Amino acid sequence: MSDIIQLLPDSVANQIAAGEVVQRPASAVKELLENAVDAGSTHIQLIIRDAGKSLIQVIDDGIGMSVTDARMSFERHATSKIRSADDLFTLHTMGFRGEALASMAAIAHVELKTKRQEDEVGTSVIIEGAEFVSQDNCVCSKGTSIAIRNLFYNVPARRNFLKSNPVETRHIVDEFTRVALAHPEIAFSFHHNEMQVFDLRFGNLRQRIAAVFGNNYNERLVPVEEETTIVSLSGFVCKPEFAKKNRGEQYFFVNNRFIKDGYLHHAVSAAFENMITKDSYPSYFINLQINPAHIDVNIHPTKTEIKFVDEKSVYAIMRAAVKRALGKFSVTPTLDFDQERSFEIPLEQLDKFPKLPTIKVNPNYNPFKPETVEQASNPTRWNPIIQPVRTEQWHQLHKNLMNIELPIADSKESNTFPVIDELDETCFTQMQLRMIVVTHEHGLLLIDQQMAHEQILYEQNLHNLIHKPAATQQQLFPQNLEFTPHEAMLLKELLTDLRQLGFDINEFGANAFVLHGAPAEVIAGDEKKILQLLMDQYKQNRDVMQLESRNNLALSYARSLAMRKATFLSQREMKHLVTELMNCENPLLNFNGKNILVQIGSDELMNRFNKK
Ligand code: ADP
Ligand code: MG
Repeated sequence: MSDIIQLLPDSVANQIAAGEVVQRPASAVKELLENAVDAGSTHIQLIIRDAGKSLIQVIDDGIGMSVTDARMSFERHATSKIRSADDLFTLHTMGFRGEALASMAAIAHVELKTKRQEDEVGTSVIIEGAEFVSQDNCVCSKGTSIAIRNLFYNVPARRNFLKSNPVETRHIVDEFTRVALAHPEIAFSFHHNEMQVFDLRFGNLRQRIAAVFGNNYNERLVPVEEETTIVSLSGFVCKPEFAKKNRGEQYFFVNNRFIKDGYLHHAVSAAFENMITKDSYPSYFINLQINPAHIDVNIHPTKTEIKFVDEKSVYAIMRAAVKRALGKFSVTPTLDFDQERSFEIPLEQLDKFPKLPTIKVNPNYNPFKPETVEQASNPTRWNPIIQPVRTEQWHQLHKNLMNIELPIADSKESNTFPVIDELDETCFTQMQLRMIVVTHEHGLLLIDQQMAHEQILYEQNLHNLIHKPAATQQQLFPQNLEFTPHEAMLLKELLTDLRQLGFDINEFGANAFVLHGAPAEVIAGDEKKILQLLMDQYKQNRDVMQLESRNNLALSYARSLAMRKATFLSQREMKHLVTELMNCENPLLNFNGKNILVQIGSDELMNRFNKK
């Protein structure tokens, strides 16, 4: 038998390497952007079409390439960035493996145009599926343009594996954001399907963060600065009250390259200890400048993980620097309990001896004008919701519930559930502006008012999403609403379902939308705020709880509309709210199984008196 081992042809080797370097359009975007940064550009344009599936183009004004380099750049292990293994320890560039262009050329149609300052004419090179097609002179300005068309056209398995356009676009936006935040000194623009998504002028990091995430970030940022012999830190953390329930705004850059690092993340979180709730994440944008000899960047093929030689010291420095920054700007510890939306009625508190309430006299009180008392002691007003549309089946359930015998929380005896409609308004009392106490013949009902409101809205939203679109109140004058690029991206994903919920909204340019009408529950003027709250919630639920899209939207919208904590309710409003709750398919438990309502039967109450 003859020998059977052969060297793989380059085209095959490149396709295999491509699997490692280019997993999805976003990876190609990252490589091209990093090359443009390495080329010393001051303006970088990113243009994509169909979430990068049909086109990814990066145009820069960097140093460009000579005729020979233009051709060479597509060879495997062709790089201008290292010459010897020693160079690996002094790296100051993004790339160095010389694999990116070769890999992309193996799995796409690639067109390169490039010109150096000193050259009269530029060079264009076309390569398709690792096959060299042509090389010509061309007229172009200084810099480089690389267009990647039909990514994975010859790797159907990969192509079919790609996610929907919104998902792939989100990955691209993430990569773009990382590079843009790492290099505020470079101007970036980003167009998707001919629409401008980002237009970022050069500036400092603070300006860049505001340009990417919105101007309101300006007041959230606390500077972090620290210079030591081991590492220099600079950047910002967001004040504790802006910590989010979802990951996403955690940015470390080592020598201006985005990295992920769980250990360093822990260091920052430790600095925030006791200032934010355990389940929230601080936002940060911190650049570490460190001698390249003290890190090993080679640990991960796509280079988002690195290893510090002296990681314990870096950890300690990071933690101390963030702590000091928070202290210096007298950021006081504020545990934001109002953000804790899944409030439960603390049953164990019922056993404890209650604190005597202090009596506050309201001088405006006039028993004959109920409005005066409400307004005088009225922190926030509840916006009564409109009656949801009910199905047949749902009316049946309601009927059953109104007369049902429900088991009592921690008693073996059962009790008759009151018919809310028949109760006098005086049976409704508010406790601590958060709980409704209903007294009735057979005992007490304790209802978390916010959870109740949320449940009512949640079920109504689900109904609107699945069965029947909500009514829209048309506006006399259409409103233009501007969002940050990140928000706009998500809004586009949710547009169809939002219409179902009663928002008559359409795209109107890059990050702008036009609103012709909104659901009746949304107070005029609050439309943008509600949409923003909704999207924040949506992202949080998607990332933390992995909720399915419609369920998530129904819940997020309910949360953004539901009354805030500490909302004063009149007796009429309480009765209305409890009636609405009883009309729900599930008035007892919220979507993740927490009690909305607790019953205490009169027998159980009487037993308490007889206890020794
Ligand atoms: P690496 O970046 O790891 O060196 P790449 O395959 O990404 O490998 O690029 C190969 C080479 O092509 C680079 O080392 C650089 O010399 C050249 N190159 C790539 N992109 C550009 C660009 N936008 N401007 C100038 N030169 C470039
Ligand atoms: Mg590169």
